[in-house]
Amino acid sequence: MPITDQANQAERATQGITVDASHEPVSVLTINGGSSSIKFALYQVGERLDRKLFGKVDRIGLNGTNLTFADDDGSPQARLSLPAADHKSAADFLIGWLETQDGFESVRAVGHRVVHGMNHTEPEIVTQDLLDELHRISPYDPEHLPREIKLIQAFRQRHPKLPQLACFDTTFHSDMPRVAKLLPIPRRYEAMGVQRYGFHGLSYAYLMEELASLGDPAATTGRVILAHLGNGASMAAVRDGKSIDTSMAFTPTAGLVMSTRSGDLDPGLAAFLARTEKMTTSRFYDMVNHESGLLGISETSSDMRDLLDQEATDTRSAEAVTTFCYQAKKWIGSFAAALGGLDTIVFAGGIGENSPAVRSRICEGLGFLGIEIDDARNAESAAEISERASQVKIRVIRTDEELMIARSVTRLLRLGTH
Ligand code: ADP
Repeated sequence: MPITDQANQAERATQGITVDASHEPVSVLTINGGSSSIKFALYQVGERLDRKLFGKVDRIGLNGTNLTFADDDGSPQARLSLPAADHKSAADFLIGWLETQDGFESVRAVGHRVVHGMNHTEPEIVTQDLLDELHRISPYDPEHLPREIKLIQAFRQRHPKLPQLACFDTTFHSDMPRVAKLLPIPRRYEAMGVQRYGFHGLSYAYLMEELASLGDPAATTGRVILAHLGNGASMAAVRDGKSIDTSMAFTPTAGLVMSTRSGDLDPGLAAFLARTEKMTTSRFYDMVNHESGLLGISETSSDMRDLLDQEATDTRSAEAVTTFCYQAKKWIGSFAAALGGLDTIVFAGGIGENSPAVRSRICEGLGFLGIEIDDARNAESAAEISERASQVKIRVIRTDEELMIARSVTRLLRLGTH
């Protein structure tokens, strides 16, 4: 066996063996690193996963970086200002602070959200090999992977014996049929890993587990559309519990209109802007990821709440909301076709969970697919918002990516019964 394989195997073995569920209490820490924030949560492992602490460091790389947190009862605690604000120093500050918190001594493993896992079909224990691989595939997701690697490394440096797990957003879609994965460009790019991957997988996995716990047969044998509508937005078509297609593709920029991402565009646009405005690739990247979507159309805000507040008096805001809902409606139609019909739609994410107006506009006119929303229940954001006679059940589920990470960690390391 090559030396590196032996080293990795030894590393995995050591990490596995040091996990000992017999010493109470046992906790799991989850880390969800975004472009300018790090969300964290600490769960005590028992009969169920009990969240004891959660919070975030936000405005990383901007003025006024803060750490805010809340106790298990949800009561917000003090806000701490960070002296230095890049990702590395924010991670070091966070770890130093976590070490002083009640319960940190009981942490037996750290679970990280990792947005891109290429072809990994399971969460993985972090080894040097895995870190090398994540470095290698960073060009596939330059926005997320380098920061996520830094976070993992910061924990590894200060707590080298603590097992860490990478939970990938792409995993949920790894079984999609080839017809959904294959992109219609020259074949040779497929060999370089250019294909539809899909993202938001931790949220989707959580939503499917919630559907199963509600006893909805659609969770295991039905045709489901999961709509995760937050700042990042995507949909997944799920049949018999498995993703068969999803709107995000090779990158998270594809698919639906998002807060600052364009979603799908005519590929001819890049060449047109290069010719007419001498736009470079990196400017184009910035434009479609950070200046488009709701922000691009409204020219004022990337936040759906602002746009809904302004739409009566501002045409640009109204058009941003309308375009968002129209494109979402089209994706529902296209996934209903891919699934050969529809049994359940689930709305999740900040917009999906909280905006009756957006849900109602997306579903409007879809009666021909058996989609009938109940206005009163929708206005309350009830758990089930479809009319009783609606063929398609329409549900609102609060997604919880952190809890999904914690469940994955406890399952893989056999820390409890989750
Ligand atoms: P992220 O993808 O960053 O986790 P969220 O899932 O928190 O984002 O979603 C943020 C979006 O949810 C914002 O556009 C915000 O305006 C929207 N949102 C939150 N609450 C409401 C609400 N009550 N009505 C409409 N939109 C809302």
